[in-house]
Formats: sequence, C-alpha cells, structure tokens
Amino acid sequence: MADNTMQVVTTMPTADFQINFLRNIQWLLESSSYTSTYKFALLMAMTNLCIESGIDDDREHAINYQQLAEQFIHLYWNQTLPFSDKDSDSILKQSNTTGQAKVINSILKLQQDIQTTSLTIARTHKMPWQLTLKEVARTIKANPSRYLQNAENKQSREFLFVYDPKANSITLKRGIAYCFARFSKIIHKLCQQYWTEFVRKNRHNQIYFSDDVDLQQFLFHQSRQSLKLLIPVLLDTQDRQCFYCQQPLTSNLEVDHFIPWSKYPIDTTHNFVLTDHKCNNSKRDYLAEEIFYEKWLIRNQQHGDAIDKGTKNLGFVTNLERSETVSQWAYQMAVEHNDLVWTPQKGLKLRTINPDLLPFLRN
Ligand SMILES: [Zn+2]
Repeated sequence: MADNTMQVVTTMPTADFQINFLRNIQWLLESSSYTSTYKFALLMAMTNLCIESGIDDDREHAINYQQLAEQFIHLYWNQTLPFSDKDSDSILKQSNTTGQAKVINSILKLQQDIQTTSLTIARTHKMPWQLTLKEVARTIKANPSRYLQNAENKQSREFLFVYDPKANSITLKRGIAYCFARFSKIIHKLCQQYWTEFVRKNRHNQIYFSDDVDLQQFLFHQSRQSLKLLIPVLLDTQDRQCFYCQQPLTSNLEVDHFIPWSKYPIDTTHNFVLTDHKCNNSKRDYLAEEIFYEKWLIRNQQHGDAIDKGTKNLGFVTNLERSETVSQWAYQMAVEHNDLVWTPQKGLKLRTINPDLLPFLRN
C-alpha cells in the first residue's frame, strides 16, 4: 500500500496464552490458601473492570485500588444484611479467623453511620462513602492483592500482575485484561461457587442454614428494590411505551437491564429501559436483538444527559461511556460465540445474532 500513515499494530493473546490463563485461574482457585472470601471478590472485581476498560488486544491494564474498592463494596453490600429475617445477628462470616472480614465491618460501620442499608442512598453520602472507599482500598492492598497468587504451599505464580507494595494500582500483565473480559462468565460462575462453598463450610454460619435455603442466591442475587426510583426519569425518554414491543406502559411496567445483569453485574443508569411485564419476563438473561441495540444507543444519545441529571442524586452509578463500552463488549461476545438473541416477535423469541447488523462493534 502506498500509504505513509502510521499503522497501529494491535496483537491479540495467542490461543496458548489464553489456555494457560485458564489453567492458572484453575490452579489459583484450587490451590490457593483462603482465610476469607477476598480472593474471589478480587478476581470478580478485576473481571468487571477489564470489561469496562473495553480492551480488545493484549495491552497491559492498570487498575487502581479505589476502583477495586468500589467493586468490593458492590459485591459485599447485600452480604452484610442479616441472612435470616428472624435474627438480626445472622450476618454471615466471611473469614475463617476470629472475627469478621474487615471489608464487611467497614460496610457495616458505614451503614450504621448513615442509618441506611440501601446502597444507592449510601452513595449519596459523599464524605462517609469516600472514607469507606479509602478504608476498603487499603484492606485490598494489604491483603488479597498481596496474597492472591500464592498457593497453600507458599508457591507463588505471578501470572496476573507483579505485586508492588508501593504502588497505588495493580498493573495487569499483557494479555490478562483481554482474557478476563473474554472468560468473564466462567470466572464469575467459578468464583461464586467457591465463595458460596467457603461461606457454607464456615462453622460459625452453620446455625443459620437449613436445606431449603439457596445460599448462592442470597449472596449474589441482584437487588431490584431501588430500581423503581428510575421510572419517572425513564418514562419520558420512551414516550410511555415498552422499549421492545412499544405497547403503552400502564401498571404492568418493569425496569429491564438492557445488558443483562448476569453478563455484567453492576447497575448503571444508562443500561436501564422500561418494559411491560410480558417482554421483561420473556427476555430474561438474553441480549435483545440487534435493532434494539441501535435503538438503545440512539436513546442514550438523545436522552443520555437527562438520564444522567435525573439519576445523579439518587446514588446510582451513572457513566454513559462505561455503559456503552460494556454494551459493545456484550454484543461483541455474542457475535464471537454465536449467541442467541431475544426478539419480541410472536412465535420466534430467540435467533442467532447477525454480525452485519452491528455497525458499532470494534471489528
Ligand atoms: Zn413489551
């Protein structure tokens, strides 16, 4: 080519690298020593942040401890609530040593200081929230990030990053961010499983468990209680119609995660749309078909600022760029994996995605 412009060469991790990454994750989960649930939280937090980064090649990626702290608080928040409705002391222990895991105590203290167990309200208390973030960041630095890659037999494999006690961030090695974003689903599922087992085995927790209780559900279920606050803001952006089938919204109105919670478990305001019960119930954990992706992008172009303004003081995470990066990642994965997408059309419901209809993706 007679083209003198600089070519940016992006490279991707090799297949061997990716398999090795998965092998090492498996080694870590199986051989690591655990005194608390922090290591699972750290892996899940790093996975979420790699998705948000939008990295699609083998670049290094720096994650600071404040970002990790925010993720930790989101992960642990519901887990600080009493496990049994009948016993306010039934806060599950997340540590094998005496006492409770420090992150849980930091969150409990925040909840007590500001007199709320609502995460969205807590986020509006700027000063106490920031102090808690800092405290949790210090805990992560001193504990799980330091010991994450150490096995029970003191063997260490620094395959994700080299721990630096002086740094304010963790720099993931080349190719690691790519792998975290690619294998997010496996990593989340595995971590949830190991995390649940850890909590279940803790003898201090046994008194609260009965056979019919779904512990994993308690630990990781999404909380929908506060989503109702978003309804007035969103109603105006879609003419009081269901985002998918365009039927008028009346009392059957529901708030839908456009990119399903199961794919990316942080509530960000631009990700929400209003639907009727029928569509929300039928879409479940699927991505919506391609035309809705375009519709969603346009909705955010037109009403992004209004959503931002209308929700900022409600304590939701609001960041349009982040929501768009996550959506791009989700549809990209759907194309690569030949996933089924959901359609509100009668009698069809699911079909494979057509990559040609997605002009917004990176490749
Ligand atoms: Zn509908």
